[in-house]
Amino acid sequence: MSTDLMPNRYRPGEVNLPARDAELIARRDAVLGLSYRLQYRRPVHFVRGEGMWLYDPDGRAYLDFYNNVPSLGHCHPEVNAAMAEQAARISANTRYLEPRLVDYAERLVDAFPEELNRVVFTCTGSESNDLALRIARLASGGEGVIVSSYAYHGTSAAAAAVSPNLGDAVKLSPFVRMVSLPGPAGIPESQAADFFEAQVRSAILDLNRRGIGVAALLIDSIFSSDGVWVDPPGFITGGVAAVRDAGGLIIADEVQPGFGRTGIHMWGFERHRIVPDLVTLGKPMGNGFPIGAVVGRKAPMERFGATARYSNTFAGNTVGIATADAVLTILQRDQIPQHALAMSEQLRAGLEGLAKKHRGVRAIRNAGLFFGIDIGPDEIAIPEKRAMALGVVNAMRDDGVLISTTGANEDTLKVRPPLVCQAEHVDLFLATFERAITNVAV
Ligand code: PMP
Repeated sequence: MSTDLMPNRYRPGEVNLPARDAELIARRDAVLGLSYRLQYRRPVHFVRGEGMWLYDPDGRAYLDFYNNVPSLGHCHPEVNAAMAEQAARISANTRYLEPRLVDYAERLVDAFPEELNRVVFTCTGSESNDLALRIARLASGGEGVIVSSYAYHGTSAAAAAVSPNLGDAVKLSPFVRMVSLPGPAGIPESQAADFFEAQVRSAILDLNRRGIGVAALLIDSIFSSDGVWVDPPGFITGGVAAVRDAGGLIIADEVQPGFGRTGIHMWGFERHRIVPDLVTLGKPMGNGFPIGAVVGRKAPMERFGATARYSNTFAGNTVGIATADAVLTILQRDQIPQHALAMSEQLRAGLEGLAKKHRGVRAIRNAGLFFGIDIGPDEIAIPEKRAMALGVVNAMRDDGVLISTTGANEDTLKVRPPLVCQAEHVDLFLATFERAITNVAV
């Protein structure tokens, strides 16, 4: 596992910066909390975004193949107009009668399988997971949470305590159990489902033997922070059934795969042919406006609603709702998931072509427009693979294309462009990637 908390970052003294950026960094360092880190060896400084592009103060354009929050593109005019129009009228809260809240809630749950017919709004993905854990614990009577071994589920105390990705210094809950994924463990696809189920069953046994009980299996169905392990579709189903048998709930963390990222499907869990009990949403829901939600089955939601007093100052405010409503309208009207699928096929074909030519591309995995590309040939050591991956990311950054790394070893490129990318953007990405992989020494 990488011990560096953020390998793809700026380290003082490593590069010469323009005075403008050096001064801004000095001011940041003097005032911001110390947990902030700047991405890339040479930090990026943006003043404007439009569609697939981000612009620095000199007007240089960078192609964004990294940010999945503005999944409809940066500063989408229609989304911004809906946001501004509502901000100019009223930003009401959920304790007042307001039709837009209900209209959007109806439209949102309509985009889910019919069992999932209740929604509670939040402001962030972390908050969604935090709330889902509270609901699951209350509904199941258990405390234990099962997660993948390099999962990330958020920043709140409860979400961080179930996020092994945050590194050794962040204490995990004594009630969390980590399960290995078949892909990174080198298990063939034909045995992946059995392997996953066996892992989950032994976690359940342990939680029950200690009297902790099982509250939930909490998973990001594309396992993005574990390195994007998406195949074979359905490999989680045995583990899901085992958790249900043990009285636990299934929480699908859709903060990364949700809202069409995986192509065809609106939600990542659909690829695995399961219907979870609770679904947590965030990132692309407002195309940049902070809004999230927990969508769930009626029974656990009712249980929570009947026993816990829950109110949230900002979540469900009408400006966020109007913004999210515009996002959902555009996603559905313009068939963005289908478009994302077509673009992902073009990108995959291009990457496969490059993998044949370049030994540095070890493996390619994707679900729609979320790609993990393992860098470095098999025979080199993990730190060398990581160095290569970071070399590629930073060469591409210098060449005007943004991506980053992920996975336990941080030797996997994380590529997740806004869903509205076009063929010409995919071609530009591929050409830039080829230059980088050619120039970064093995
Ligand atoms: N879950 C997953 C899978 C995530 O990737 C993230 C954010 N990277 C979160 C939850 C937390 O979301 P937020 O940063 O909006 O709190």
